Parts: sequence; structure tokens; C-alpha cells
Amino acid sequence: MDKPLIETYKHKGMRQSLVDDLYKKGIKDRKVLNAMNKVPRHFFFETALIEHSYDDKAFPIGEGQTISQPFTVASQTQLLSLKQGDKVLEIGTGSGYQACILVELGANLYTIEYNKILFERTRQFLPKMGYNPKFFCGDGTKGLPSFAPYDKIIVTAGGPFVPESLVGQLSIGGILVIPVGDESKQKMLKITRLSATDFEQEEHGLFSFVKLRGSEGWS
Ligand code: SAH
Repeated sequence: MDKPLIETYKHKGMRQSLVDDLYKKGIKDRKVLNAMNKVPRHFFFETALIEHSYDDKAFPIGEGQTISQPFTVASQTQLLSLKQGDKVLEIGTGSGYQACILVELGANLYTIEYNKILFERTRQFLPKMGYNPKFFCGDGTKGLPSFAPYDKIIVTAGGPFVPESLVGQLSIGGILVIPVGDESKQKMLKITRLSATDFEQEEHGLFSFVKLRGSEGWS
């Protein structure tokens, strides 16, 4: 069931207000704000929920999963400090909204989703919007070794600890952004690989994500 992808001035206006709101909440990276201003978030919503598509809130996308809150998407993206052409691995494709933002910023994106139904749906939908990352289905806590190393890795579900496999697939100078904590709240960690053996870790606030499952996540 293909729904028409329609963009009006009203949507553009709502999106601009959302972006202004994100700026006030601390997202100062112009490139990130511009990308958020380009991707039509309402395309990801069912008709009944479309009026909420530019609220700064997470929403259900089926299969018990959510499209992340815009502030969360912007925060994680800002922490990645993306450069044009960066090879990026995203764990948790979900709706594909975060993936579009990353591609908009010039990422050479590999994205992996655990849930087969979401994987199929998003793999078919994103190209219709003009976004063409490389889609994979499987347990992203193990990374995607065949294409490693990555300049940037972003995990869009909350895990109990940092998966060793992901750390090992970072290039030198690479950055991993991952929420880690218990089932209700997670600290946003930014881990930078300084050398083959040295890493630096920063904490960037508390968030609330759906569970990261898999062999190096929640069982
Ligand atoms: N980036 C998404 C956020 C979706 S919510 C968006 O913009 O909409 C997080 C997603 O992570 C869910 O779709 C969930 O199924 C997926 N997920 C959870 N554990 C995973 C794992 N081990 N590997 C890959 N995806 C996983």
C-alpha cells in the first residue's frame, strides 16, 4: 500500500519550527540542523498520526519499535562529527529516519536492522524518498565485519554495555556513539579510537531508547 509522498508549505513550516526548537535545546551544528530541515519526517508517519510528525517526540512505527525523537537523532548525529564520504555503520535501521539524516550529511552508510519486517519495509521505502544506504538484516551488536573498519558507528537502541565487536571495527580516529544503561535510562557515550589500543570516552546526557538486543545486547 503505497501512500503518496506529499510535501506542502505547512510541512515545511512545521519542520522549520522543529529545527528552531532543536537549536534552542542545544543543537548548534548548522550542518545537522540543515539536514534535519531537509528530510520530510511526516513521510514516516501513518495518516492518523501525521499532525504529530514534527513534535519533538518518539512515535511507534510498528513491531514494538519507535522512530527516535528528533532531539535524540540530532544529538547523536552532532556527536558523530560527520564528514562528507565518512564510512558509517548504523545499528538499528528502524524507520530509516536517522539513516536519511546521515546520508543527507554525506555518509557512505551501512545500516543493519534485527527485525525482518522493519528491515524489509524500510529497505523498500527509503529508495522511494531518494535515499540509498546499504541495508542489512541481522544482529548489529556484532557489527558488520566484512565491511569494517568504519569512520563512525551509531547505535540507535540502548544496550547494557558497549559491544566489544563494535569497538574493534572502528578505524583509528573513529567515533562510536552508543546509549548504555539499564532498561529505562541510558547514558549517551562517545568513544573515540585514538590508536590500536587507546580509546577516549565521554558522556553526553541521559536518554531513553528501546532495547538493543542480540549477542552483545539484551537477551
Ligand atoms: N534509527 C531508528 C531508530 C529505531 S529504534 C529510526 O530512526 O527510526 C531502534 C531499532 O533498533 C529498532 O528497529 C530495533 O529493532 C533495532 N535493534 C535492536 N537491537 C538490534 C540489533 N542487535 N541489531 C540491529 N538492530 C537492532
